[in-house]
Amino acid sequence: MTVKTLKDLLDEGVTGRHVLVRSDFNVPLNDAGEITDPGRIDASLPTIKALVDGGARVVLMAHLGRPKGEVNPKFSLAPVAEALSERLDQYVALAGDVVGEDAHERANGLNDGDVMLIENVRFDPRETSKDEEQRKEFATQLASLTGDNGAFVSDGFGVVHRAQTSVYDVAKLLPHYAGQLVNKEISTLAKVAENPDKPYVVVLGGSKVSDKLGVIKALAPKTDALIIGGGMCYTFLAAQGHNVQKSLLQEDMIDTCKQLMETYGDAIVLPVDLIAASEFDKNAESKVVDLDGIPEGWMSLDIGPKSVELFEERLSSAKTIFWNGPMGVFEFEKFAAGTKGVAEAMIKATANGAFSVVGGGDSAASVRTLGLDEDGFSHISTGGGASLEFLEGKKLPGVAVLEA
Ligand code: ADP
Ligand code: MG
Repeated sequence: MTVKTLKDLLDEGVTGRHVLVRSDFNVPLNDAGEITDPGRIDASLPTIKALVDGGARVVLMAHLGRPKGEVNPKFSLAPVAEALSERLDQYVALAGDVVGEDAHERANGLNDGDVMLIENVRFDPRETSKDEEQRKEFATQLASLTGDNGAFVSDGFGVVHRAQTSVYDVAKLLPHYAGQLVNKEISTLAKVAENPDKPYVVVLGGSKVSDKLGVIKALAPKTDALIIGGGMCYTFLAAQGHNVQKSLLQEDMIDTCKQLMETYGDAIVLPVDLIAASEFDKNAESKVVDLDGIPEGWMSLDIGPKSVELFEERLSSAKTIFWNGPMGVFEFEKFAAGTKGVAEAMIKATANGAFSVVGGGDSAASVRTLGLDEDGFSHISTGGGASLEFLEGKKLPGVAVLEA
């Protein structure tokens, strides 16, 4: 791999140069528009600070949520600009547009060491367009924010699996470098992908089987145990003939799950008990049940205590652990015990020498919101889809483009 990194750019010298940085500021917001988990912003700071210290004129770009190509104040990066200003201890201006007059004027007006942010790149439909010409046109406008002698730093690890304009096309127009976060994520995940110490235990949860089928197929042959919990386990349980009642179920995936269990047999580890809930609500009535015990019309929102024990046991001897996807609806206190128990088991295994990686936005958020020690894991990835695709062995377009 011949990817130039931020260090190369700093060695070349950045004083007075405009550097366009793609960061991942896609943070969760509450109804009041406040950031509930600033993890991704914090993870982006080292690259930004290094550029500021080098005297660059930093133009940041990122997306937030899914505004679907339209300007929508609900998805403005204003809270991010504020959080950045606080953390960098310097004013970070937010342009009133993406690549319009205001963005250009502000970019022109930057002094050495200044930092600005353009508005949500997904306010522009060309960001995610399938039409290459449209993306190229948008990329040209983004690149023009840097004037002469500009550079592009790719640091949004959470989006490098997407061939979108601000991630992919813009890299073709400017000298390009991998930022510190992208670099660190890739070198860490490579350890898990290429030569994991055994036993290698993967824990998958979250909502959709179809999203994670690729990773199940790719990892099952490599792992000693593939533990499946969360919303996706019910399709597997249904495939075993259990009545999962109103639990999350992807009927069109039942056959695929059957085949996976036939092929990988004992490697796939499923829950042995569940927490049933009367409805999808934080105050729902709840009880511990066995796999056939979900009351009629109820649903399961977490794995049960015996499952936590079983998963703990498998994790206790692991030397490499990868975790993606919560074990239950951890956002509701009543249904957080499964996720918490399994996460604690991983922290324990890590203390005993295992190398553990957490990937996935909600999984990473669960570690923090459940009050667990982030440092208890070897690495918490900022990318969900990106880390999964990397482990599947897929080429990430946003990384591949940096190699050229
Ligand atoms: P990640 O972001 O870590 O990749 P996902 O986005 O795949 O994880 O899934 C996270 C979501 O899955 C959480 O919001 C959680 O509430 C939901 N979830 C987990 N278990 C269940 C369940 N049993 N029923 C419904 N939703 C669930
Ligand atoms: Mg998620």
